Amino acid sequence: MLELQKVSLEIQGDKGFEILKNINLKFYEKKIYVVTGPNGGGKSSLAKIIMGVYNPTSGQILLDGQDITSMSITERARMGIGYAFQSPPRFKGIKVRELLKMAASHNPEKVNICDLLYDVGLCAQDYLNRDVDASLSGGEMKRIEIATVLARNLKIAVFDEPEAGIDLWSFQKLAETFRNIHMKYDTTIILISHQERIMELADEIIIMSSGMVSAQSERDIILAGIMNNDSCACSTKCVKG
Ligand code: ADP
Ligand code: MG
Ligand code: MG
Repeated sequence: MLELQKVSLEIQGDKGFEILKNINLKFYEKKIYVVTGPNGGGKSSLAKIIMGVYNPTSGQILLDGQDITSMSITERARMGIGYAFQSPPRFKGIKVRELLKMAASHNPEKVNICDLLYDVGLCAQDYLNRDVDASLSGGEMKRIEIATVLARNLKIAVFDEPEAGIDLWSFQKLAETFRNIHMKYDTTIILISHQERIMELADEIIIMSSGMVSAQSERDIILAGIMNNDSCACSTKCVKG
C-alpha cells in the first residue's frame, strides 16, 4: 500500500504558493484509481510527488509501511514505483523487442514479451522487430509504453493523461487495455484522466482542485455526483440550456 500523510508541496519564490495542501491518500494493491479535476488542480504534481520528482515541503509518503519521503526517483523505481510520461520517449535504433527486454531485465524468466504485447492489444509478430521511433503511431507508442511498465512488474504505476494525443478509436482500445491489465496484473494503477471512459475503470475516483482532494469515493458515487452537480469535475464548463 502507498500512503500519503499530510503531504504539502510549496513552491519557493517571492510569494511561494502551495501546490498541494495537506493531502491524505491511501492506494491499495491491485486497485485502479482515477485522479481527475480541473486543470491546475495539482494532479501532475501529485504524480511527481509519488515518483520523487518533487519532494514534499511537509508530510510523509509510505510504501508498505516504509518511509520513502526522502528517496530519489531511482530508489523509488527500484522499490516498484513507475511513471508513464504524457508523451512517451522514442529511442532511435532500439527495437520494441529490445526495449521490452530491458524493461523486464530484473525478472526475465517471468516475463513473456509476446504475451505482454498481446495484453496491450498489439500483435507480437507485427511489432517485435519494429523500431521505437516516429514510425509508430501515438496509440501504438502509448501501448508499447504501457507494455514496458507491465514488464517492470511494478507495485504502483502512474499514468498522467494517457489519452493525450490519441485519436478516439485508439483511445477506446486503450481503455480496454487498462481493463484487461487490471484483471491480469497485481499492479496498483493510478490514472490521471479527464475521460469518462477511463473513470469508468476506476475502483475509486479522487477529485483534486486547488491543490486539495475535494472528493474521494467509489466510482459510482463520484460519477453520480458529477452528473448531478452543477460544478462538475471536468475541465470543460458544461453548457446548460
Ligand atoms: P494539473 O496536473 O492538475 O493540471 P499541476 O499539478 O500541473 O496541475 O499544477 C498545479 C499548479 O501548480 C499549477 O498552478 C501549476 O502552474 C503549478 N506548478 C506546478 N509545478 C510547478 C513548478 N515547478 N513551479 C511553479 N508552479 C508549478
Ligand atoms: Mg492538466
Ligand atoms: Mg497535469
